[in-house]
Amino acid sequence: MRLGILGGTFDPVHRGHLALAHAACDELSLDEVLFLPAGQPWRKAGRIIASNEHRLAMLRRALEGEAAFPVSTLELERPGPSYTADTLEALRDDRPEDELFFLLGEDALMDLPNWARPQRILELAMLAVARRADTSPKALKEADRHLPGLGERVIWLKMSAVAVSATEIRERVRGGQPIGDLALATVEEYIREQGLYRE
Ligand code: ATP
Repeated sequence: MRLGILGGTFDPVHRGHLALAHAACDELSLDEVLFLPAGQPWRKAGRIIASNEHRLAMLRRALEGEAAFPVSTLELERPGPSYTADTLEALRDDRPEDELFFLLGEDALMDLPNWARPQRILELAMLAVARRADTSPKALKEADRHLPGLGERVIWLKMSAVAVSATEIRERVRGGQPIGDLALATVEEYIREQGLYRE
């Protein structure tokens, strides 16, 4: 199987995540995209993050009816920081026949040299990368310099940038503004019901 893997904080899941998964599926003929919410998103340490239960519940709502987009709780169940290298090794051991494609936005790609065992990530998966609205091409060169071989493992997706971030959604909720079409209606409803992101 050609397996896409989309790891994230998903606080909350939004249209950008779904667009990324759909684009990768179409452009790279993936059979599935596995959504993997991080248990301890250590690159976002110091920030208050909604509980595992809330982030998982929102993901399940957003992916209802998307048969090719299963959710894995692997990182939620694993104690300690959620390192992508550990996750990819676990998936590779579990499904040795599968070809792995790690999906990410350009912002995460720039940060990848700072992740745990980044070279191992490059060995285990190709990187399918989506542009984000506000990153500069210079930053990628910089990342490649810090992690040799990075550029050769990158497949740029043709999808145009989707200007949505979880940060913007949280800010809108905090400011009492509607989320509009940044997230699915079912996710917006959950945020409202549970009183998330108000402060
Ligand atoms: P935050 O604003 O809280 O930092 P985020 O919107 O970037 O969050 P994450 O859950 O951290 O969302 O993202 C998970 C993965 O999805 C990352 O690789 C990120 O780059 C990618 N991603 C998020 N939003 C988009 C988007 N609009 N277009 C393409 N990729 C995206």
